[in-house]
Amino acid sequence: MGQRLVRREVDEGLRLYQQQHHEGAIRKWKRALHKMKHRNDRFVTLGYLALAHGECGKHRDMLAYGIMQIDLANEADNTNMRAEAYLCLARSNEKLCDYHKAVSYSRHCLQNQPRDARIHGYVYMCQASAYFCFGSFTKSLANLEQAMVISKESSDPGLELQVFSAMGRIFSLLKDYEKGLGFQLKAAELSKSFVLCDISTKYQRLAFYNMAVPLVELERYEEALACCEDSLRMATSEGDLPMQAKCLCCLGDIERENRQFQQALESYDSALEIMSEIGDRAGQADTLLGKAKTILRIDKPTKALEFAEKALEIVNGIGHKILMLKCRIALEEIFCCLDDHMVAKQHYRASQALKEELDLFCCLCDAPIGEKADSLEPLTCFHIAHTTCMGQTENNYILPEAMSDAVERCRRCAKSTSSNGGHS
Ligand SMILES: [Zn+2]
Ligand SMILES: [Zn+2]
Repeated sequence: MGQRLVRREVDEGLRLYQQQHHEGAIRKWKRALHKMKHRNDRFVTLGYLALAHGECGKHRDMLAYGIMQIDLANEADNTNMRAEAYLCLARSNEKLCDYHKAVSYSRHCLQNQPRDARIHGYVYMCQASAYFCFGSFTKSLANLEQAMVISKESSDPGLELQVFSAMGRIFSLLKDYEKGLGFQLKAAELSKSFVLCDISTKYQRLAFYNMAVPLVELERYEEALACCEDSLRMATSEGDLPMQAKCLCCLGDIERENRQFQQALESYDSALEIMSEIGDRAGQADTLLGKAKTILRIDKPTKALEFAEKALEIVNGIGHKILMLKCRIALEEIFCCLDDHMVAKQHYRASQALKEELDLFCCLCDAPIGEKADSLEPLTCFHIAHTTCMGQTENNYILPEAMSDAVERCRRCAKSTSSNGGHS
């Protein structure tokens, strides 16, 4: 009898969660957990609690629930439970910018066979995101491909949408903004297909934010602003702190480009406040960098230097290679403004070394990629080439023959001994 009431409380929590009332759902689940006797029920409820806390940006709590889950999974010696618990640990560590741990827990997850194949799909996403932060685009793309296969096999549009978003993120970062935006448009299109309107807003705000980023780079500020404001409005009303913070940082970038410097600084400060609360150190560094660039525009290079150096200190701590490169480029510019060309040159050298490390070169012609806007294409080995180096038809469609021919010419694969380039 008692346990039946407890289950009812769990179900009420689920209903609240589906209506995006996270706080209410968490209260129900916590209460139920105290009275719960069966291990399996406890495990499932801990999973709900982890998910809901993660979505509110409480990633440290999410991690704590993941640890409780893994204890139960080991106690039961159950591989399905282990896969799910390791996914939770991988995800929370990725959100807390602990990328090495995220990759390590992802591997543990992949060694355990879950009943639900989507668990592995989501862990491939998590691993792709960690590799992206390390600047390993090849590994990131390989993981995204695996996630895409699982999304198709298990008909999970939510997972498919996340793959498109992540692909878009990679191409926008490498300055193929058209392709980056194209992937985000696909994600936005998919977000409309969800029947449950509460879930669809979750995916819509993700898609809108992700569209704003390449639109800023394409200098389509009005459209970027519309996307960013829509996403921010949805995130604020649903209490989605991580998305709210990201949108505020993007809003700052748009305001800076529109020369509304004071407003930009205010947006960045609001973003920073949330990011420090939720432990998003990568976001903090990115926002500090935005702030430094804004202050540099109002001719205060000494003040700008302070923020850029703080950003570099944070990214060095978490090992986020992409942001390290962004910091070095900004610092070079700041030292040029300060007429300190010696130090500017040191930052320039550091940025060149990072480009080597991140392998920001076309795998066919060895010329740089990601320096200026250009059309890029991943080969089937996941190394990246200029579209023009691959051979193409007039309407931009890569012929399969051109693709297989290009793989044979891939300089990275030629260097490695194994046929798949030696990446996992
Ligand atoms: Zn090339
Ligand atoms: Zn290759």
